[in-house]
Amino acid sequence: MSEPLVTRMRGFGTTIFAEMSALALRTGSINLGQGFPDTDGPDSMLRRAVEAIGSGANQYPPGPGLPELRQAVAEHRLRHYGLEYDPDGEILITVGATEAIAASVLALCEPGDEVIAFEPYYDSYAASIALAGARLVAVTLRPDETGRFTFDPAELRAAITPRTRAILVNSPHNPTGTVLTRAELGEIAALCQEAGLIAITDEVYEHLTFDGVEHVPLATLPGMRERTVMISSAGKTFSVTGWKTGWICAPAPLVRAVQTVKQFLTFTVGGPWQLAVAHGLRHELGWVAELRAGLEGKRDRLMEGLAAAGFGVLKPLGTYFVQTDIRPLGHADGLDLTRRLPELAGVVAIPTQVFYDHPERGRHFVRFAFCKKDEVIDEAAARLKRLSAS
Ligand code: PMP
Ligand code: GLN
Repeated sequence: MSEPLVTRMRGFGTTIFAEMSALALRTGSINLGQGFPDTDGPDSMLRRAVEAIGSGANQYPPGPGLPELRQAVAEHRLRHYGLEYDPDGEILITVGATEAIAASVLALCEPGDEVIAFEPYYDSYAASIALAGARLVAVTLRPDETGRFTFDPAELRAAITPRTRAILVNSPHNPTGTVLTRAELGEIAALCQEAGLIAITDEVYEHLTFDGVEHVPLATLPGMRERTVMISSAGKTFSVTGWKTGWICAPAPLVRAVQTVKQFLTFTVGGPWQLAVAHGLRHELGWVAELRAGLEGKRDRLMEGLAAAGFGVLKPLGTYFVQTDIRPLGHADGLDLTRRLPELAGVVAIPTQVFYDHPERGRHFVRFAFCKKDEVIDEAAARLKRLSAS
């Protein structure tokens, strides 16, 4: 049989996360690749899910999501960001941020439309844009003299054409750990308004910022709420990446459009997870604050270990990933190094270049996750010292 996969999805293959997690399993390596914590979310939230299953919350919830979770999301947005969203019509519960991104792009972009994203970008962006028949236009983030990845506003402006429909903004940013500043968000906001673009904001790491840096949602900037689809996920906030529960907040016409697509992708989201996440948003934000403080210590711990092993280390101000430059170790190609890392050091990491349209710009970067127990980070760091010894 000839290749059964539709043309627009060819070249996507298996995600780097699946490839690298399988490699870790096969070789018994420490997995600092795929970003998932090795400890569970808050107890009371886990118990709420079990209780929900035991008390009959097991049939289809309504398409937009259970009112209890939509209400909890609305209260959280208001308390945390001063943003008002109507739980009936301006909030949609999704199967993680992944479905939220896919449904937004599929709902809002015509074939041939252009969508701007900052590279390196989270892998599902390119796939969702390809599924829509739209075109991704990448604007490159580069480290400044302090090692913080940022963009050139002139490059962003130059990327906008009459076909540009939307811009996908991920802050805190995976995989670079950049948290966009108010000034950077201001540049993006001004261009969105000038060119009439929709902003799709991936804010899954909204609570995971360090050194006193606060996440600023693009929708809080003047004139942006009305054109922004704001996406969150319980996976990273509450360390339940396997629950795949996320949400969209946006003006009603945008939510209606996204829901029109979402209802035929998955119709709805598992009820027990929704009730448990509503509980988490209402009662476990203290736990999230502790998670963030704990992660800051883990970031420093892994950065130290990586520096001692000879990597160039670029300090992240958010997310649970740290970027490294492998050139000081005498390596040039992150994909080649990460495929051999299990054999060289018994550790798995992610080659950042796969998140670029211009892979040569990220060839020397490798990403490590630090959402792991201290002893796991220490053991990985000890093993990575073998690299400079060999
Ligand atoms: N966006 C980014 C930037 C991510 O890192 C991830 C992975 N958590 C997702 C989206 C997907 O989130 P979810 O697991 O909720 O689908
Ligand atoms: N968001 C996770 C990461 O960046 C991976 C999610 C996935 O496996 N698709 O590591």
